[in-house]
Amino acid sequence: MRSAGFGRIAGMMMAAVMAVAAHAGPIEQTKGDFVDKFRQLEGEDWPTPTDYRNAAGAPGHRYWQQKVDYRITARLDEAARSISGNQTLTYHNNSPDSLKYLWLLLDQNNQKRNSIGELGETVSAGGEIGMTQVRRAMRMKEWEGGFSGLTVTDGAGRPLKFTVVDSLLRIDLAAPLASGASTVVKIAFSFPLIETRVIGGRSGYECFTKPDQDGNCLFLAAQWFPRAAVYSDYEGWHNKAFIGDGEFTLEFGDYDVSISVPADHVVSATGELANPEILSAAQRARLAQARTAKEPVYIVTPAEAEAAEKGKASGTRTWRFTAKNVRDFAWASSRKFIWDAMGVRQDDPAVPLVMAMSFYPKEARPLWDAYSTKSIAHTIDVYGKFAFTYPYPTAQSINGPVGGMEYPMMTFNGPRPVKDKKTGQLTYTERAKYGLIGVVIHEVGHSWFPMIVNSDERQWTWMDEGLNTFLQFEAERQWDKNFPARRGEPKDIVEYMVSQDQVPLMTHSDSLLQFGNNGYAKPATAMVILRETILGRELFDFAFKEYARRWRFKRPTPYDFFRTMEEASGVDLDWFWRGWFYSTDHVDISLDKVIEARVDTRNPEIEKAWSKERSKAEPGSLTVARNREPTVVERDPATRDFYDETDRFTVTAEDRREYKKLQEKLEPEEAAALAFKDHFYHFSFRNVGGLVMPIILKLDFADGSTETVRIPAEVWRRNSKAITWQYVTPKTLTAAEVDPLWETADADRNNNAYPRRITPAVLKVRDEREGDNRMADSDLEVTPDSLKTRPIKKDEKKDQK
Ligand SMILES: [Zn+2]
Repeated sequence: MRSAGFGRIAGMMMAAVMAVAAHAGPIEQTKGDFVDKFRQLEGEDWPTPTDYRNAAGAPGHRYWQQKVDYRITARLDEAARSISGNQTLTYHNNSPDSLKYLWLLLDQNNQKRNSIGELGETVSAGGEIGMTQVRRAMRMKEWEGGFSGLTVTDGAGRPLKFTVVDSLLRIDLAAPLASGASTVVKIAFSFPLIETRVIGGRSGYECFTKPDQDGNCLFLAAQWFPRAAVYSDYEGWHNKAFIGDGEFTLEFGDYDVSISVPADHVVSATGELANPEILSAAQRARLAQARTAKEPVYIVTPAEAEAAEKGKASGTRTWRFTAKNVRDFAWASSRKFIWDAMGVRQDDPAVPLVMAMSFYPKEARPLWDAYSTKSIAHTIDVYGKFAFTYPYPTAQSINGPVGGMEYPMMTFNGPRPVKDKKTGQLTYTERAKYGLIGVVIHEVGHSWFPMIVNSDERQWTWMDEGLNTFLQFEAERQWDKNFPARRGEPKDIVEYMVSQDQVPLMTHSDSLLQFGNNGYAKPATAMVILRETILGRELFDFAFKEYARRWRFKRPTPYDFFRTMEEASGVDLDWFWRGWFYSTDHVDISLDKVIEARVDTRNPEIEKAWSKERSKAEPGSLTVARNREPTVVERDPATRDFYDETDRFTVTAEDRREYKKLQEKLEPEEAAALAFKDHFYHFSFRNVGGLVMPIILKLDFADGSTETVRIPAEVWRRNSKAITWQYVTPKTLTAAEVDPLWETADADRNNNAYPRRITPAVLKVRDEREGDNRMADSDLEVTPDSLKTRPIKKDEKKDQK
């Protein structure tokens, strides 16, 4: 990343750290230890609005973005497990700047032995290593990934100078590309595919070469051609290398891609098939039937796929796909593919029907037949309601070695049933079932974030993973009330929120600690809390939809999201962004004390009697209680006088005169105030976790009624550590509880109830049996008379049991 960009992020980290003590920058709190958790972000922490992205968080009146179109011919070499291609890239410079060079992404170079990604990996210092790590280390000695054979020319075929910088490629143009002009660049390339299960990654191949398998492979092509890097209004060229975690930020464009594969392969790809005649008449008829079908229809049946597995075609066929306004292009190819499809109707005259399609080998059945395509349809339905209708003609789910990854109209998803090696029994785990539905929702959901709302994944993981995981959670809950959703429920984020090994969400993707909790779970939970607890559904849904629609097919930054959510909901949320996105605070609000008070009537008859009752309620002197001998006053009546007959609670004549005088002086409303009989309850709250949040307070009364008060977060604005809050009622309070519905991710529930409750728990009994018996394990024993060992006879040993 450029130094300017790095400085900005360092600045944010600093702001987050400094917020703990005092605000950084020109404004400093140097007296006391007051922390302003409500300090406005606008004007200090957020970038100044521009004509390109305005102060409301919307694209500005001079918003621009580049457009890059691709025409590619590619060839899959099945035997060599490699891809080669020729591409014609047309770069439309819509920026106001003239460009001397173009930067492209060579993500495959991440797999070169000397890449930043490969050499920059660390391992845990413990004495363990995974089997996959050993296999990977062995493979990297004999195999190396990355692009090779690169040639670059201009549209007329004249060579252009180019420079490879790790996973980036700079192409020096013959003449600067003026604002508003276009240029054509032609690139030839090739690279070996990754064996995904050995090397890891978001594409590659998987072969079924075990003795009981058919010997065929699945090929998944992604990040497979040199793609234009982003040139943006806020960062210029985005030139941070791909080092593994921060994914891709790309430009929209139109694609025309021809893919040559073995003649018996079935190909799935971004976009629509432009030469449908490559399919048989029967397959085309099935596709037509699938458009209106209620259940997925096989386009390639399991029987047809199994037949294809048995032979191996000698020739090749070329599948051609076109896609408009997409930010990337991926494809998959195999003779093993079963293909099913189902039309999904949506309320959009531009795209009234989307073809949901799944491609999978027989090893993925019967899970995939049952759930993949239906999960795509469900995603289109739910995300369409939360954000916008799906704008593309197809949405596809492909089974292979990649656990879960998204590309435009294409997703790679991993879960499969398991086959017992000995018995051949086919089963699947609950984890695989919900894992498949969940991952298909998630990856297809990425169509919205970031494939269409085109945030910068390489910098901000939460912007796509977080918002998408939030909608995944909503979609899972709408699939099944009891869906075992992994991320989204506030109570599930607590363990992470209190952990030490973490950084604020506003941290670069490649520098995140606990990637899944940070990039996915925390922002998703923050959105659930923002929707259910802070804004309410109506305001949240309006603002979230506004954000999605404003930035549909455009490039938002975090500040565009923050500004839009505030501007559209009409609610200041700076404290929320500070707490959940700029800090590592957690939620833990303790209800420390409740006081029941009433107004002092000033009437000595009432007040002195009340004080006397209080005094009597006290336990009194232990010394007096234990003294057995009568006191002087008890023994000798002559020592008793006026002061023994009265006490400090006795109402005097002067008391009565004072009260009378007061009554004459009081205005009627003042007299009424003194006669006010309601209870004043004073609740003392302590903010243990540091994150300011609304206080959801449930009150139980003596008459059996209950009431829940939702105290806004602003209650913490003058003191974010400890506050006292008042509630006035004629009813008598018996108990109170903070966050009774567990909606705020409050980390310690033991300090929520007043009076405190006893916490139930289970004590696991430690196994204290003796350790290993090396003598017995060596099939040896001793006799009662000798320490000399002798072999245990096998059948003898069995008898002893
Ligand atoms: Zn994701």
